[in-house]
Amino acid sequence: TLTDTTLIDSAAPENAHWAQSAELNRRVQALVSQMTLAEKVGQMTQAERRHATPEDVKNYHLGSILNGGGSFPGKNTRADWVQMIGAYQDAAGATRLGIPIIYGTDAVHGHSNVMGATIFPHNIGLGATRNPELAQEIGAATAREVAATGVSWTFAPTLCVTRDERWGRSYECFSESPELVAEFAGPLVAGLQGGPLDGATLKNDKIVATAKHWVADGGTSYGTGDENYAIDRGDTQVSDEELRKLHIAPYKPALDGGVGTVMISYSSVNGTKMHEHAELNNGVLKGELGFAGFTISDWEALKEIPAETNRERVVRAVNAGVDMVMEPEKWQQFITDLTAAVEAGEVSMARIDDAVSRILKVKLAAGLFEHPLPPLASDPQAGELLGHREHRELARQAVRESLVLLKNTGGLLPLAKNSKVFVAGTHADDIGLQSGGWTIEWQGKAGDITEGTTILEGIRAAASGEVTYSADGEGAAGHDVAIVVLGEQPYAEGVGDYREAPCELCKPLTLSDEQLAVLKKVQASGVPTAVVLVSGRPLLISEQLPQWQAFVAAWLPGSEGHGVADVLFGDYAPSGKLPVSWPRNLQQIPINVGDAQYDPLFPYGFGLTYQP
Ligand code: BGC
Repeated sequence: TLTDTTLIDSAAPENAHWAQSAELNRRVQALVSQMTLAEKVGQMTQAERRHATPEDVKNYHLGSILNGGGSFPGKNTRADWVQMIGAYQDAAGATRLGIPIIYGTDAVHGHSNVMGATIFPHNIGLGATRNPELAQEIGAATAREVAATGVSWTFAPTLCVTRDERWGRSYECFSESPELVAEFAGPLVAGLQGGPLDGATLKNDKIVATAKHWVADGGTSYGTGDENYAIDRGDTQVSDEELRKLHIAPYKPALDGGVGTVMISYSSVNGTKMHEHAELNNGVLKGELGFAGFTISDWEALKEIPAETNRERVVRAVNAGVDMVMEPEKWQQFITDLTAAVEAGEVSMARIDDAVSRILKVKLAAGLFEHPLPPLASDPQAGELLGHREHRELARQAVRESLVLLKNTGGLLPLAKNSKVFVAGTHADDIGLQSGGWTIEWQGKAGDITEGTTILEGIRAAASGEVTYSADGEGAAGHDVAIVVLGEQPYAEGVGDYREAPCELCKPLTLSDEQLAVLKKVQASGVPTAVVLVSGRPLLISEQLPQWQAFVAAWLPGSEGHGVADVLFGDYAPSGKLPVSWPRNLQQIPINVGDAQYDPLFPYGFGLTYQP
């Protein structure tokens, strides 16, 4: 057990206590003292499943395998996952020291790479619920679905604080407010991990969580990246005080909750790439905040470090506090370069031992040595966990609570059940569009990509009257109401849905011409219109809004379209509040609550409900 607390240093922050038990440290020490340099460097290496075989795990002592988003073409069932991870663990078990790998995936809104898993709303929608307890249940449900497929580690939660919604990954942030992000951080980690790692984490159907992307990824200023990443992987220009208040503070509850791992951000702070930012990684995260788990680089992120050679980048990253490196494809190069650097004294053996000790602590404290595959993976009953009815019910509740009613002239909503309803827009009947990025595919994808209920299906189930659907808006006349469901195309990273990007004159955050045409047709019919917006961030709709009687922000609701219908028909009265300020126009961005000049279209925290 890991309950022996005799080593606990009372001066160390409480979040580090899980890592200080005498028994845990004895086991780590016993392993590290026997390890060769090759075995140590192997532990620090994470490869991607398409680029590393079980044989590679055995020969190179790899410490971890991940799958990047969208790396499961074809068969993608629970059995495929369990078998694949089992083969890696068997190979790891056959090494001299038998150290298990830790397998990681992006289960960022449910176990979102797996067919049939429950897809929860993306973080921005959860922020709108203002309900961290619900988020904790979502974390627990996600952990069960993940563990049932043999996976023991998720790269979530994302704790970005979005300060400029032109950043494509804003949808992964709970809010623009550091206080609101902080409120969600602890419960999410508690839901996923069940508390600090304690030796029984996996046994208890929990998994290892990752707070990411350390730090200030949501503060990057627009336009500082190269043309392909105009608003991703940028630079955050910030004073020390603002950095702490806006971006570091939300990590504290995650660290206090004993989050096992932290992923380093692609971005930079005041010109220094986070992957070589010794002051923030070693000084603040591991020093001041006492983080005792291990840090993982982002995907091929060492490339972000401006150095001449890969070896120099490796040296700078490891010395700056990166413990495990996500080198999906070129992991052999990483091993070669780190080994040479250690032999040449460019990275000290003490630093290597520290990194390896941290990795082993997490593995031991998660219970991986006892359960290389989480017990749920071999539980015959657990097959039902993927997309379990109770999980879908939880997701539906999250969808209901995440919807923000922004306009409701004349009480158009809620709709009478027997209304003659016209539904229009591509986003009304598309599970892929309503789920967004990180769903089956890395960047997400339109279409019938997994199981669930579309918004249209939800409307049909809720309505007792006639429901007519026309994607392009043709044929609205004669209906009581038109529900037009519009929004963004899915994306995970990069510039987001800019359509014409990279470009100089592209129009970010606007509805496409095709979508405006749908609206025009519906409005020409004179039928009162409720617009449901499916997007990862506020879009610029000031010009169109006067023609809409009702307007609902649905964010990226995920697989349970029923939840949207529950609100439209009044089975659930809207309770969501804006997690970000809604700008009037592009010129206003960045706009955040607390700004000296603050005149948004809808302010942070705004959200209507129905008259009782
Ligand atoms: C993303 C991370 C993700 C990683 C692994 C990167 O491109 O920035 O958020 O965890 O890929 O898929």
